[in-house]
Order: sequence, then structure tokens, then C-alpha cells
Amino acid sequence: MKKILLAFLILTSSHVLFAQEEETPQEATGKKVYRETYTRINDLVHTQLDIRFDYSKSQAQGKVWITLKPHFYATDSLNLDAKGMDIHSVAIMKGTKTQALKYSYNGNNLFITLDKTYKGEEQYTVYIEYTAKPNDYKTKGSMAITDAKGLYFINPLGTEKNKPTQIWTQGETEATSVWCPTIDKPNQKTTNEFRMTVPSKYVTLSNGRLVNQKTNPDGTRTDTWKMELPHAPYLFFMGVGDFAIVKDSYKGKEVSYYVEKEYAPVARGIFGYTPEMIAYFSRITGVDYPWVKYAQIVGRDYVSGAMENTTSTLHGESAQQDARELLDGNGWESTIAHELFHQWFGDYVTSESWSNLTLNESFANYSEVLWDEYKHGKDAADAQNYNDMLGYLDGGSEKKIWFALIMATRKTCSTM
Ligand SMILES: [Zn+2]
Repeated sequence: MKKILLAFLILTSSHVLFAQEEETPQEATGKKVYRETYTRINDLVHTQLDIRFDYSKSQAQGKVWITLKPHFYATDSLNLDAKGMDIHSVAIMKGTKTQALKYSYNGNNLFITLDKTYKGEEQYTVYIEYTAKPNDYKTKGSMAITDAKGLYFINPLGTEKNKPTQIWTQGETEATSVWCPTIDKPNQKTTNEFRMTVPSKYVTLSNGRLVNQKTNPDGTRTDTWKMELPHAPYLFFMGVGDFAIVKDSYKGKEVSYYVEKEYAPVARGIFGYTPEMIAYFSRITGVDYPWVKYAQIVGRDYVSGAMENTTSTLHGESAQQDARELLDGNGWESTIAHELFHQWFGDYVTSESWSNLTLNESFANYSEVLWDEYKHGKDAADAQNYNDMLGYLDGGSEKKIWFALIMATRKTCSTM
């Protein structure tokens, strides 16, 4: 994830990270809290989702089949994150049939009593029907951002002039569970298959590859996206809208840019370095780009700078620059590098708890410097490094600000 302005990033990043967590007295004072690794009782294996969107209510109707297994000890119960939903039914799959299960729901967690005790590694699949109501879900007021709805309907009724109708999702840190029940923790990984039913005039984007499109008689189309390598639930993504899709490639894998149609002629001017970046990052990490494709999409009214959803990075609308603006240089190039590097650091290798998020963010920030040095030379890399340092000193802690002032004073004194 990346904020647009560095100072803003430092001041707000910790807020973004823990938007969904319960506020403790310590957090209220801004003191450090160590978020230990979440205890694994059950592990996600596969998530299959059928979802259709109700634009009139900004809601989604979901059916999800979640395959899990006990992490180690046998267990007869399952606790899923499922935020602000209406839960219609919970069952376990017995072949193709369902068998209803007992459950209780408190608005944030779904506590399910399984039909028997499952041994370690013994897989089972639960089935849940629900309505996701992101606009009704109230996150706790805290230092954190108040907006962590997970699923965003942009201009859903088409009443706002000059604004397209879009849907996009934002999972980090634990907001995916507003629209898909799951174990919404970074130390869980799952393959997934999402079937999204949308008005047929729109295109869709999700993790993995598009394996099927089916036109329905009611004017909708169902797109099936399949993610065959496991990744953490906070990296799930869905995007829907009237986008142009401009395609490049890297070693036969699709590299695509989803932009509003008027930006199609300049999409390569904004994102065109991406295949070269993938090649460069593959070379310096020694790990060839691990995923099946890489898409980048630009969403309106996004709540941050950009987000590295696996194979499907979402950028804020500032990424869209016209030909005139690009003459002065691409102001989004560093962000493109940052989110791409997360496909390795964050998505492929993932922090096991939010307290270890530096694994994700510091490597992604470092990639901006590496890319600048490779593509534009040492001065550009030094400038990037210097700006990063200023951003670090400028926020997050009074002590750091004092440290910066002391350092500045010493420097002034020593030159006097
Ligand atoms: Zn980031």
C-alpha cells in the first residue's frame, strides 16, 4: 500500500494499518502495541465465491464455499471474520449436498459448530449465504481511518455527473471480511475462485486469470476468476466498471492496464515501464515474477494511494495523467514500482502479523530507489532516498521530529 504524500504516509500509515482492530487504551495514546501472530486453529485452503451486486442498495449477495482444515489439533468449531453482514444460512458440504450447522453471529464474527470433530489436516467445506452491507458497517472510532468498508460502490446510481460507476475493494488490513467471510489474518493463505455477476456492459478484474465468461438472460454476465496460488485474504480484489483494457506482456504473461476510456491512448505513457520493471525485479530478487498475470486498475474515490492486491493492483485516480501532464514526467512511476515489488514482498512472502508489516513496506519503498537507480541514474535514486528520509523524520513520533531538529541544529552550529 502506498500513500500519495510521504509526510501524509508516515502520519497516517499506522492509522490505516489497524483500522479494523479494536481500540485499546494504549492505542488511544498512540503508544506502541505489539500485535502477536494470530493463533491458527483452522487454516484456509480454498475459497469459492459467487457474488452479485445490488447497485440500488450498495450491497452484495454472496454464496461462499470455504474449504479449511484444522491447523494441528482436532477441532469441532470454526470462527470466521464476517463483518456487518446478514447471514442467511450456514452449512457443511456433504458431497454435493448441504447439511445445516449451528452458528452464532455477533456482527463481526461467525462462530460455527461443525458437524463433528475434524482431525489435523482433515479438510472440510462450509457453505455460507449472506448479504454484504458495506455502507451499514460501522468501524470503531479510533486513531485509525474510519473508512474501512472493504467493498466500495462509486456513483452506484449514476447520479453524479462526470463520475463513472465503479466497484472496487480494499482489503488491507482486515476489511475483506466485510464482503467475504474468511479468516481475515495475514498468516492465512488460500487459493480462490470468484464468480462475479455484473451488468454485461462492464468489465471485471480479480485475482488470477479469467477462466470463463457467461452471458445471462437478465442482462448480466458472470465472470469467473481463478487464483491458483495461495495468498492472504487481505489481498483479495474485485473491480467492476467501464474500463478500457490496454495489454502488454512479460514472458507470455498478460500485463494489463485498466483505465477510464479517455486515458486509453496514454495508458502506456503511465504504466508502460511495467514489463521492464517486472524483468528488473525478477532479476534482482532471483525469483521470477511468481503470479499468472499482472494487472493495474485505476479506481475513483480511492481511500489511499494504491494497493498491491495480488496480480491486481488498484491505483488512486491521480495515476491517470493526460498527455500534457506526462510531458512533465510521470508522477506515478515510483508508486507503480512500489506496488509491483509488493507482489514479491507482501504478496508472495507475507508478514505473519501486522506488527511485522515493515517486511512489506520497507522493501516496497526500497524498490523505488532501486528502480530509479537502474532506470534514471544515481542522482534520481539519491533524491528518492532523501525524500524518504524526510518523510520518516517528519512524522509518526515527536521524538523523531526532535531528533531531526537536533541534527539540523548541530549541522548549523558546526558550519558556523
Ligand atoms: Zn506499500
